[in-house]
Amino acid sequence: QDFPGLGLAAPLLIALKKQGYSKPTPIQAQAIPSIMAGRDLLGVAQTGTGKTAAFALPILHFLATNPREAPRGGCRVLVLSPTRELASQIAESFRALASELPLSVAVVFGGVPHGAQIKALARGLDVLVATPGRLVDHLDSRVAHLNKTEFFVLDEVDQMLDLGFAKAIRRVVGALPKQRQNLFFSATMPSEIAKLANDLLNNPAQVSV
Ligand code: AMP
Repeated sequence: QDFPGLGLAAPLLIALKKQGYSKPTPIQAQAIPSIMAGRDLLGVAQTGTGKTAAFALPILHFLATNPREAPRGGCRVLVLSPTRELASQIAESFRALASELPLSVAVVFGGVPHGAQIKALARGLDVLVATPGRLVDHLDSRVAHLNKTEFFVLDEVDQMLDLGFAKAIRRVVGALPKQRQNLFFSATMPSEIAKLANDLLNNPAQVSV
């Protein structure tokens, strides 16, 4: 199994070459076909497995093959991540893999001024990576609108719950349209997380590495 065999769009294959990724990791080989088929996904995987590209590549493929204007005040793709460091790394991965595509990627997290984030949201984003607390601030102040979001990714769900983000996640979910594709990743799957996954996901494909 190689990247061209997965059917990824040519600009992604060029970006993969530039990144020096020659073949998919196991989670990429398992997850990419299901996500490209439009299914929700439940992934049990640690960092270091190539998890980020496993969701970024099929999402970017969809954006590349279904071009449309990014919604003002919102995003086509929302990724929730527990910390500013992880959120920044995910945004960097999206930027690198989207290097041959005309897509906008921004990251939003707490502890920094709101101004630049408000400007980026106002223009509209293809991909927004956010920590839950600051995104809820932007929802409450009506800076962010998620009613046009097509993909919802929850990464490192166990860490997000450990950090007390359960309520913020529910607030974000309530702002999303019903019709969307959900991708859910956690390193561990205790019953509390399995229940959240069950509430959020619609007949998900499951991958575990
Ligand atoms: P992640 O699990 O997403 O944090 O990725 C772990 C590391 O693997 C990152 O440094 C990625 O750049 C790298 N990586 C992801 N996919 C591949 C691949 N197919 N081939 C080689 N390296 C990869």
